[in-house]
Amino acid sequence: MVTIRQFQKMMHTLYFIRDQKRGDQQTFNWLREELEELYDALKKGNIEAVEEEFADVLAWLTSLANISNVDLEGAVLKKYNYLCPKCKKSPCSCSFR
Ligand SMILES: [Zn+2]
Repeated sequence: MVTIRQFQKMMHTLYFIRDQKRGDQQTFNWLREELEELYDALKKGNIEAVEEEFADVLAWLTSLANISNVDLEGAVLKKYNYLCPKCKKSPCSCSFR
């Protein structure tokens, strides 16, 4: 098992120098492209491609967090600490929109 923090550290080791050189705008563009690829894979129902695209989206999101100096695990738990941030319940009981 790997925590969000461990994954972020792994991505930092693998890609931080390249991510920093690329910058936030280009990294964001890659993330957006991977999100579109994920949606296409979901529409096609190709489970292997879906898994790969989820991995790419998480990787690019994590790269963007690294160059933005954001601790993803801390940010996620600060907002979603086992409760819905809006209704403060688990499971969420907010009305559907
Ligand atoms: Zn809720």
